Amino acid sequence: MQTTVANIQTIDPSTGEPLERFEYTPPADVEKKTDRAAAFQRKWRNEDFARRAEVLRATARTLRSRSEEFAATATREMGKPIVQALAEIEKCAWCCDFYADNAAKFLSEENVATNAARSFVGFRPLGVILAVMPWNFPFWQVFRAAAPALMAGNVMLLKHASNVSRCALQIEEIFKEGGASPGLFTTLLLHSDRVADLLADRRVAAATLTGSEGAGISIASAAGRNLKKTVLELGGSDPFIVLADADIPAAVDAAVRSRFQNAGQSCIAAKRFIVEETIYDEFVAAFADAARGQTIGDPMERATQLGPLAREDLRDALHRQVEASVERGARIATGGKFVERPGFFYEPTVLADVKDDAPAFTEETFGPAAAVTKARNADDAVALANDSSFGLGATIWSRDVERATKLAAQVESGSVFINGVMASDPRLPFGGVKRSGYGRELSHHGIHEFVNIQTVWIGPAK
Ligand code: NAP
Repeated sequence: MQTTVANIQTIDPSTGEPLERFEYTPPADVEKKTDRAAAFQRKWRNEDFARRAEVLRATARTLRSRSEEFAATATREMGKPIVQALAEIEKCAWCCDFYADNAAKFLSEENVATNAARSFVGFRPLGVILAVMPWNFPFWQVFRAAAPALMAGNVMLLKHASNVSRCALQIEEIFKEGGASPGLFTTLLLHSDRVADLLADRRVAAATLTGSEGAGISIASAAGRNLKKTVLELGGSDPFIVLADADIPAAVDAAVRSRFQNAGQSCIAAKRFIVEETIYDEFVAAFADAARGQTIGDPMERATQLGPLAREDLRDALHRQVEASVERGARIATGGKFVERPGFFYEPTVLADVKDDAPAFTEETFGPAAAVTKARNADDAVALANDSSFGLGATIWSRDVERATKLAAQVESGSVFINGVMASDPRLPFGGVKRSGYGRELSHHGIHEFVNIQTVWIGPAK
């Protein structure tokens, strides 16, 4: 007999009011759906790339034709401004098309001359991939993991963040509407304490997590105990270096977009602004002005630039980091308070004179609060940038592109953007070093994470 242990309650972050209740997937259904996924994978692995691409292209069409509906779900559940949610849905469709177009090329057999009559490397699917995903880009994070994995012949089980359960169910529906057979993509509504057991299941081959350090440690430990492959996309405290010769207005514009997009809840948001001392005061003043100038409001309104944080506890945690940083000598250039309205809004905040021992520097700040730190020169800026346990992305602003390119090689991060806003792109690999995780998503590197790189040697030997 089925029992459900508890329910999930989602909350509208723009009002604080309850939205929907969901039942966790009962254990017997988890069992059935895992079995169905494993059985379907044995068929799917034998489909050719053209058939797999058909499903992905149809999925992209569904995303585009119902984008308003999906974007509204994301905005309601986690509070991102609707214009940003629409852009997220379009990016998911792009990612599906990108892998539909390129997977066959990325996974084509590689002939290698040896003593064999013929030897080559083939790329075989691993099987059922468990995806554990966060709420901050509730569609994008899932599609960027799913599109390459499915094109490689794997199938996917999704355990999404609980506060975006409606998004999770809609994603399964999107694949179904795209012609996916049951078992290709399955959403399970699970408590996080069920993940380790699922990962231990012999039918699950590997896992990909996008989430916090804590979740990363727990999933990597469970995977380690079962010797299963994982890709971990974890947190970041990305440095944004502004050198003395930078185009300051352009850097300020990018700083605001990078830090405050999605109410600052992005792993690759610039979080630590490291500015050379000769331009420091000018940058801080302009950055604070521009941050303050953003339109705060109902995330369903197209004019809104800054919506609420996704949950009340996240806003409280951010406020504690801001206060603790002020206790350690940081100065509030703007913001630093809750916005006086219902919901989980926080003022766009710029902290100046942040020292390297303040929480806004040492920890990830997942919300609309920027930390600005003064650097003596370019070398000092790079040393400060690397003085972090994280290593996801980084940005350098300088008119001397050659010098900035040389400095990029000194920065300990998975990506470095020069004179632009750091963003993920299906054509470029994405991932981190240090405590930001390991493995890569996107590009041809991403599709190779969940394949068996198989050597085939055919005699007779020469
Ligand atoms: P989170 O609390 O780690 O949750 C992420 C997912 O992991 C959710 O599905 C969550 O389920 C699950 N989870 C949490 N603890 C777990 C555990 N001990 N075992 C198994 N699963 C667990 O992270 P979040 O607050 O949703 O997202 C914010 C974090 O994600 C930030 O650190 C951010 O930087 C990072 N992030 C990284 C990237 C990247 O690409 N590197 C991209 C986006 C976000 P429940 O919701 O049910 O708890």
